Amino acid sequence: MEMIIQASYLIAAAFFILGLKQMSSPVTARRGIVWAGGGMVLATLVTFAAPEITGSEQAGTNIVLIVIAIAIGGGYAWVSGKKVAMTDMPQMIAMYNGMGGGAAATIAAVELLKAVTEASHDPTGNTTIADVLGADVAILGILGAIIGTISFSGSIIAWAKLDGRLNRSKLLPAQHIVNAFVAIATVGFAVAIYFSADLNTIIIFYALALVLGIFITVPVGGADMPVIISLFNALTGLAVGFEGYVLGNAAMIIAGIVVGSAGSLLTQLMAVAMNRSVANVFFAGVGTDSGAVTGDGSEGIMKEIQAQDAGILMAFASQVVIIPGYGMAVAQAQHKIWELTQLLNEQGVSVKFAIHPVAGRMPGHMNVLLAEAGVPYDMIYDMDDINADFKNTTVALVIGANDVVNPSAKTDTSSPLYGMPILDAFKSDNVIVIKRGRGTGFSGVENPLFFADNTKMLFGDGQKAASQLIQAVKELT
Ligand code: NDP
Repeated sequence: MEMIIQASYLIAAAFFILGLKQMSSPVTARRGIVWAGGGMVLATLVTFAAPEITGSEQAGTNIVLIVIAIAIGGGYAWVSGKKVAMTDMPQMIAMYNGMGGGAAATIAAVELLKAVTEASHDPTGNTTIADVLGADVAILGILGAIIGTISFSGSIIAWAKLDGRLNRSKLLPAQHIVNAFVAIATVGFAVAIYFSADLNTIIIFYALALVLGIFITVPVGGADMPVIISLFNALTGLAVGFEGYVLGNAAMIIAGIVVGSAGSLLTQLMAVAMNRSVANVFFAGVGTDSGAVTGDGSEGIMKEIQAQDAGILMAFASQVVIIPGYGMAVAQAQHKIWELTQLLNEQGVSVKFAIHPVAGRMPGHMNVLLAEAGVPYDMIYDMDDINADFKNTTVALVIGANDVVNPSAKTDTSSPLYGMPILDAFKSDNVIVIKRGRGTGFSGVENPLFFADNTKMLFGDGQKAASQLIQAVKELT
């Protein structure tokens, strides 16, 4: 039986890897999700037959508890997954990511508590957790507990920020010193757990790790959020992998390593794209702000344009580059934008889409929306491939994007966006910006592009404005 269980875990792990491979292309991504989900179902079913479950005296109770947990967790995920708005997906992902870290930390807690109980049977009181679990299991278990707990509390703060429940970025007085102190204390208690078998040490350790996750994430804002979210994703994977080793579960080890390494790569890519170092984001909260709008010389007035005039400008352009951002997701304007694109193509206008690596609120957010609307992949350009083309562009149409086209990222050293590469929309002959009003982007800073001489504002909801543009272009034909 043991052989069959281990083989099933390996098959499940193979499904995870093949699923992940398919997720690397939008064409096969949906199938990849199904494959990875199939692997997870297999791993879960096999667990019911595992000797740790069936072999114990409380086999019946264990199985009932597992079924109840699956019913609550699976039921909640099913319902929330069905009704979540596309714009709330990033929050949901941050929350689920945190749950993964929390689950790994909980496994460690259970194993540590079992070891404390076992050590308490030694009348001399000299038995340590390392003696009970073995050095390798104790070290990996405690490491998984640290990073799983940090990922848990940090992801919840990230969720609160993305959901607009928490001020974007706040620095406590002497935040860096406080963070360093809490980090050192957490590591100190982690070492103490290894060399002792004391319940209070474990409780204080977990409390410190929870606080550390919160303190690391609270100051992160603006351009650094995507980096930290992706880092927590990688940490959750690592924590799951470590706890898989503790439990001797091959599927958990492989799935954890896959998520950990894929997450680490994504973190690195995000950090490079944002021109940040991962260490700085994690330890120092660089690129933060107090949540206030920074002064960046954005003075003057925004010049308004009506949809009809904007339509004419675009219909007679040689090249239009469309820059979608978070507001396009809010407005669900992607279908209308694709309709507009087709009309412009019919007029002989070359249309391209420019995607910034952190546009929207999750990696690949804009690519998903454009793919859903049917925009062909060869019309979609990454930042590095399109930036040189803005000087040949008649109209850059910015729809619901703000931070990713903010030129103060290049010029204003006090801006939380400073250093982040942007889409060089300002180099186009004309910039038309669709947004509802004077709202700032995620970073909370003003955007001088909106006040530039070659920029005109088309105020309104993204979908409504795109419909008006369609109407305007149609009237010309
Ligand atoms: P921003 O958040 O900078 O700006 C969005 C703009 O959309 C706002 O200025 C808002 O202005 C406008 N808007 C909102 N609703 C609508 C609507 N219904 N119709 C039209 N416009 C609307 O978006 P960007 O995509 O430019 O930048 C992404 C930001 O999110 C970056 O700062 C990035 O660091 C951060 N981030 C990205 C993550 C990722 O993984 N991609 C994760 C976490 C954070 P108004 O209110 O006036 O309409």
